[in-house]
Amino acid sequence: MSRRRLDIVIVGAGMVGLTQAALLAVRHPQLRIGVLEASTDAPRIAPQHYDPRVVALTKGSQNLLEEVGVWGETTARRACPYTVMRVWDADGTGSVCFNSRDVQMPNLGHIVENNVLTAALWARVAQLPNVEMVTGFRLENWWRDCGHWFLQPRGDDENVIEGLQESVDTVSTRLLIGADGARSRVRDLLRIRASDTVYRQMALVCIARCERNHQHTAWQRFLKSGPLAFLPLEGLGDDNHCAVVWSADDELARELLMLDDAAFALNLEKAFESRLGAVESVGERLSFPLRARHAERYFGPGAALIGDAAHSIHPLAGQGANLGLQDVRVLSEEIARALKRGLEPSDASVLSRYQRRCRGENAATLKAMSTFKSLFGAGDLHWRWLRNTGLNMVDASPLLKKRIILRAMAV
Ligand SMILES: Cc1cc2nc3c(=O)[nH]c(=O)nc-3n(C[C@H](O)[C@H](O)[C@H](O)COP(=O)(O)OP(=O)(O)OC[C@H]3O[C@@H](n4cnc5c(N)ncnc54)[C@H](O)[C@@H]3O)c2cc1C
Repeated sequence: MSRRRLDIVIVGAGMVGLTQAALLAVRHPQLRIGVLEASTDAPRIAPQHYDPRVVALTKGSQNLLEEVGVWGETTARRACPYTVMRVWDADGTGSVCFNSRDVQMPNLGHIVENNVLTAALWARVAQLPNVEMVTGFRLENWWRDCGHWFLQPRGDDENVIEGLQESVDTVSTRLLIGADGARSRVRDLLRIRASDTVYRQMALVCIARCERNHQHTAWQRFLKSGPLAFLPLEGLGDDNHCAVVWSADDELARELLMLDDAAFALNLEKAFESRLGAVESVGERLSFPLRARHAERYFGPGAALIGDAAHSIHPLAGQGANLGLQDVRVLSEEIARALKRGLEPSDASVLSRYQRRCRGENAATLKAMSTFKSLFGAGDLHWRWLRNTGLNMVDASPLLKKRIILRAMAV
């Protein structure tokens, strides 16, 4: 057993934590960075199947992933650019179509499978000489002494430093970054409260093969029970596969989960108005309970929260990971600024600047998602009129559309 002392420790090797580790390591080769991850194995990519969990990444996120050196690897494997986004209301005639041509860009973003991205990040972090990845380390306890955090895993885990085959029982650091997801242990240990909105909805995700080509379009139909998205995929031979994200009230979601594949495919096709012809086959269905959480603070003494640990959001606008990667960009800028001025990156002034720059923006996005969700869930005539008129007004205004696209792409 050994103790490890590191400059910065990140808890959680999801896409946000790994990007944070890689970015800091690339920008500051003098820093020794640790990543503590509860699971023991790197994500696996099935060569013949798409992962049903995907994210729609913006140009802003792409830029960050390019800087850490994983974008080429990710796109070479499987990342599908989409040039058009079509959104329409199931209950009326409102619709809006965004096109990358409106902003003279080659695309609006990319759909990337979660495991393709995390596997590329995991491999990249393993190449960086100043990052130590400790797997099987589920953070459970800690104490703080003389400005250092001392971190310990749950007793029964086997914590092994990647490449060294050496167990670790305590890790210490001055700056701890919690990237350990929506049910963050770091957030709990820091006693930071989080607002919690339970939507009583589940997101059902699966891969669907459609009769017609997806046309590199992200499709989203707003049903009263929740939004249904078909997101284009490529890399396994044809352009007919889509990642489906169907947010539905709990009861409906449970019914949909119980159906056999053929009956589910029929329901899916009907809910999607057969926009891509018949849904010919569907893969394994996974479900995620939907809730929005927002931490009251993004930092404590010598510790910061990023990604889903700080905020988790309804997937209807596909922004969760993008917001998390934006936290990474801002926190890295503040750490660089501190180092330049001879300050400790764990200094409260550094972490509070990070919070100031991110929390307000994230709160506005969370609020906007909740408003959208309520607006599209309302069956009342007035609300129906309002949202249909709103969608058509946006569609008829090239200037407004351009502004919306540019703002969404920057996240
Ligand atoms: C259905 C659905 C669709 C979505 N679509 C989109 C989209 O289109 N675009 C988008 O931007 N976002 C989307 N999101 C959101 C996005 O998936 C998340 O925001 C993102 O994956 C969060 O990444 P993260 O790294 O912060 O957290 P996570 O991916 O949750 O990673 C946390 C990591 O921490 C580890 N961990 C947890 N606890 C501990 C501990 N105590 N000790 C050590 N390690 C620990 C876990 O094992 C895990 O590896 C979607 C989400 C859902 C549910």
